[in-house]
Amino acid sequence: MRIVVDLTKCQGYAQCAFLAPDVFTIQGDEALSYDPHPERTQLTKIRRAAAACPVQAIRLEPPDALDGALHPDPRHGTIEDNGGTFKKTGRIVIVGASIAGLRAAERLREEGFTGALTLVGEEPHEPYDRPPLSKQVLAGSAPLEDTSLPRLRDIGATWRLGVAATSLDLATKELHLADGSRIGFDKLLIATGLRARPWPNTEEAALAGVLTLRTREDSATLRQLLAGHPRRVLVIGAGFIGCEVASVCRELGLPVTVAEAGPAPLVAALGSAIGVIAGELQIENGVDLRCGVRVTALQGDATGQLRRAVLSDGTALEVDVAVAALGSIRNVEWLADSGLACGVWGVACDAGCRAFDANGLVTDDVFVAGDIARAPQPMYGYQYLAVEHWGNAISQAEVAAHNMVSQETERWPHLTVPKFWSVQFGIEIKSVGVPSAADEVAIVQGSVTEKRFLAVYGYKGRVVAAVAFNQNKWLDFYEPLIEQAAPFPPQFHHIDESSDARPVPAGFKPAASPTQDATVVVTGHDPNERRARLTNPDAGETPSRRPAEPGARTKERSP
Ligand SMILES: Cc1cc2nc3c(=O)[nH]c(=O)nc-3n(C[C@H](O)[C@H](O)[C@H](O)COP(=O)(O)OP(=O)(O)OC[C@H]3O[C@@H](n4cnc5c(N)ncnc54)[C@H](O)[C@@H]3O)c2cc1C
Ligand code: SF4
Repeated sequence: MRIVVDLTKCQGYAQCAFLAPDVFTIQGDEALSYDPHPERTQLTKIRRAAAACPVQAIRLEPPDALDGALHPDPRHGTIEDNGGTFKKTGRIVIVGASIAGLRAAERLREEGFTGALTLVGEEPHEPYDRPPLSKQVLAGSAPLEDTSLPRLRDIGATWRLGVAATSLDLATKELHLADGSRIGFDKLLIATGLRARPWPNTEEAALAGVLTLRTREDSATLRQLLAGHPRRVLVIGAGFIGCEVASVCRELGLPVTVAEAGPAPLVAALGSAIGVIAGELQIENGVDLRCGVRVTALQGDATGQLRRAVLSDGTALEVDVAVAALGSIRNVEWLADSGLACGVWGVACDAGCRAFDANGLVTDDVFVAGDIARAPQPMYGYQYLAVEHWGNAISQAEVAAHNMVSQETERWPHLTVPKFWSVQFGIEIKSVGVPSAADEVAIVQGSVTEKRFLAVYGYKGRVVAAVAFNQNKWLDFYEPLIEQAAPFPPQFHHIDESSDARPVPAGFKPAASPTQDATVVVTGHDPNERRARLTNPDAGETPSRRPAEPGARTKERSP
């Protein structure tokens, strides 16, 4: 077994060092070195690292070495054909041609699916990567074209790009597209992800200089605006994307104000205890950070160019660019009449990525993956998690694809611990687990003053997450502790112990509604979302996938 890393592609994300630290190491800030002939015992970790590498720079030779590490190799007959003919001649349609859609397509072919494969994508582009859009592309250190996702294999698919799916008819198993065409399918994968939440005042949102950041076009426009040396940039909302934009502005030497309604940046994702530290980082780097403040108006000049922003504290700012980083909206509208269980938190599915219908019955022909999915997570008490992370999109897509062509007994649950990375003000912030599930946090290693530390999150005396600021080498150690729900606070001694490792309240608001900018939303049952329609077989009614009118309450029926 031999590893080859294409170092021209490598951008020093350090995902590999994070996931397989005995094989890959980062020297200095981002120089990668690795063991080209690693021990076979490292295979599982290497496979995860190869899957997680944002630029897909890692290759294992022979390629088969990657198979069988986590799951049996379908080509060697361990996974039975799902009814034989479906795998050979069935029709699979994937809606959403981004990272989850592409990786699912690749996995389907790896699993031996030789039938018809169609990818439908609203954007005109072939799949591209979003994380660099708020980092390297915005800073000008990577060209936009370099964000195209590398192809791991030939997928032999029919591409329908630049056309949106508008509705889904499960009775006839047909997908309706915006150009009036229809596509029949045997199995469908929904991977339509998110879009950015726009600035709510439509007139103000239409001013030149006001924008959101989700797509290639958004990133190109913002890059151009920043290159024009605006007097000041206003970032509205201090979630991950807002903070990354502010960081790039400072890197480019631009004056930037961050207006955040909550008490600190990153509060929905990391809690206020750690968010306060992220706030100090911003101030130290010259950001004009305004917390507990809302933007109440954006004002333009006679040409429709943004010129001024009014804040709830009574102050006003002279700004030419405003980035609304207000979180996201899940792309579920096209499924409104489908009868699937979908809503503001996405499309609900089981741990094997099979979509639920509105009556709570699991479908066996419709699967969900990526940012749009809302799935139960055994590690978090089987609560439903909606995860907006790059790594989650890949792992869920692979599980969904495998399950689409596998028999019941061969299916995989999606049990991956959520992981996230962000780079801000020269600091790499990484997270494993779900910090927002926590009630307490303890900084167990490193130094807050030096902005290199490791924080462990606990819920009711159990470890649920860990977050590192420039200390990601330790996170691997905490992942199994999260999986095992180890006692919190940790009972052992650490290297580089922090001076005060006492747990403090993590500082999350109770999740009463979808938060603006958390990248993992723990969602419970919301009675207001209940749309199931009970049927009465005695009255000749048959169960239907069609939901009752949105918002309609189910009538309780006496037996
Ligand atoms: C600027 C930015 C920076 C990020 N940085 C990080 C990071 O540092 N770390 C990290 O872990 N994650 C990061 N993420 C999140 C990560 O990119 C997402 O988790 C990932 O893109 C999710 O992939 P997806 O395929 O599920 O959905 P998406 O990437 O949202 O793709 C969904 C696709 O479906 C298409 N679509 C929608 N509706 C329809 C329809 N009706 N018909 C057809 N097609 C449709 C959309 O146009 C889109 O192309 C970042 C995201 C952004 C925007
Ligand atoms: S994850 Fe990929 S890009 Fe990052 S250091 Fe490793 S090989 Fe390089």
